[in-house]
Amino acid sequence: MKKIDRTDAEWRAKLTPEQYRILRQGGTEPPWSGDLLDAKDDGQFLCAACGEPLFSSDRKYDSGSGWPSFTAPVDGEVVSEKSDETHGMTRTEVRCARCEGHLGHVFPDGPGPEGLRYCINSASLAFRKTSDED
Ligand code: FE
Repeated sequence: MKKIDRTDAEWRAKLTPEQYRILRQGGTEPPWSGDLLDAKDDGQFLCAACGEPLFSSDRKYDSGSGWPSFTAPVDGEVVSEKSDETHGMTRTEVRCARCEGHLGHVFPDGPGPEGLRYCINSASLAFRKTSDED
């Protein structure tokens, strides 16, 4: 994967303040607040910072958590995962592998064959409906 490297000032100029806080500073949107929480159309969820396709509607499900949830990314290469010890918890942070943008966390309690729940901020994603592609 070809990485994207922008300066902090470039990200600030490109992203909304909320996107910047989440994607570049590891923030979290309040639960039930995101505009993609209930998105049910067929399509792809792209990184809001760099446009890389990260998740597909086929793997989106309603976890009841208040954040868009997926059982897997489109493939294992598009996200990077690392241990996150902040806020007194041990969690696994999920980032976009291309631009290093913070997406959310992955938890071992998902319903799919992998048993994973990718809990992702709406603000870190842009939705592209399947019909928009052709
Ligand atoms: Fe990205």
